[in-house]
This record gives sequence, C-alpha cells and structure tokens, in this order.
Amino acid sequence: MMLRSYPSGPIETNSYIIFCEKSKKAWIVDAPKDCYAEIKIDIEILGLTVEKIILTHSHWDHIADLRVLKDHFDCPVLVHKDDAENVIHPGADGLPLYFKIEGVQPDEYLVEGQIISLNDSSAKIIHTPGHSRGSICLYFEEARILISGDTLFKGSMGRVDLPTSEPDRMWDSLERLSRLPSEVAVYPGHGTSTTIGMESWMKNAKNLFS
Ligand SMILES: [Zn+2]
Ligand SMILES: [Zn+2]
Repeated sequence: MMLRSYPSGPIETNSYIIFCEKSKKAWIVDAPKDCYAEIKIDIEILGLTVEKIILTHSHWDHIADLRVLKDHFDCPVLVHKDDAENVIHPGADGLPLYFKIEGVQPDEYLVEGQIISLNDSSAKIIHTPGHSRGSICLYFEEARILISGDTLFKGSMGRVDLPTSEPDRMWDSLERLSRLPSEVAVYPGHGTSTTIGMESWMKNAKNLFS
C-alpha cells in the first residue's frame, strides 16, 4: 500500500491518494480546492484506477474539488451520514463559503467499524465525532497507518468552536485514538505527519482543553 499527499487550497488541506502497486487500484481521500489537476496527472502517470473517493468529513476545505474529481474518475463518494448534508448542499453546515462549491450526492455512508478493502490492504472506519458530527478516521491496521482528517494534527487537533463541533465528543474521540499502537503513522487533514506515540497528550485532551 502506497500513499501520497497533496496539500491544496487556501488553508493547505491535505488530499491523499492511497494505492496498491500490484492491482493499481486507488482511493482518493478528501477533495480540497485545486487538488484535481495534480492528482489527475499522478493517477495517469502511475496508471491507477480510482475506486472510491472517501471523505474524512465535509467541511468546505475538504469537498471543494469533489464534483470535478467524481465527474472525471466516475467513482462512488463515501462519507459518514452525519456529514452528508454538507456534501449535497455545501454551506448547509453553517460555515461560511469563500467561493462556490458544487454539491454531490454521496453514494455510500461510512459506519463505525466498517472494513473497506483495497486489494490486499484494508482500512477500518473509526467514527471520531467532535470537530464535526460525521468525522471519521481511516485505520490501516496492518500497515500501521491512520488518516486522521481534522480530528488529529501533529501537536494539535481540529477546531471545536465551529457550528459543527461538539467538544465533549472530541475528547472521547481523541482518547480513543490514543489507544492505538504508538508506532502508527498519522496523516492528518492539515500539516505534516506524526505518530500516535508522539501525540500522547490526546489521553488528557479533556483536562487540557476544557
Ligand atoms: Zn474540518
Ligand atoms: Zn480542514
């Protein structure tokens, strides 16, 4: 399993492609503004087939290029049900939109504990509400990789003062992530990668921040 990141858009949101070199099957995770051009080129060069677009959550900075990605790669879009409304009607979540974003009808809803397979690898969906109600992380247990969206950043976490936020659920979500093996590599929605072990503050997020 291979992973590449594409920081894009006005607040440097990370989009990822995750792919299997053998089968050439790929997923795109999140769709920030202007990620499309670069991702399209790499998918062509690497000879990949995009099987799914998975959203860690539906804030504007993660869905801006979703319409163009879905139209080009013609593949299903997966999101947690609790974040689906803003995918269909961008702006419905109460966050200001700085430019027009076209809505997309999701094809499947992600649920807690669900396992999705990418050829030999598989990822488990961990529902991590707090930053938004439908935030999820993708956990590749065997590869020891976590795609954490805006739930966990290197040395910090996603905002909990937004209309979509529920701080109490965020503390629980972070505590839950802190129980993953310390060597798990974390690829967040913003900024550079980290490991679970380096983010041991997560265990005490409630005391630290509330
Ligand atoms: Zn967010
Ligand atoms: Zn974000």
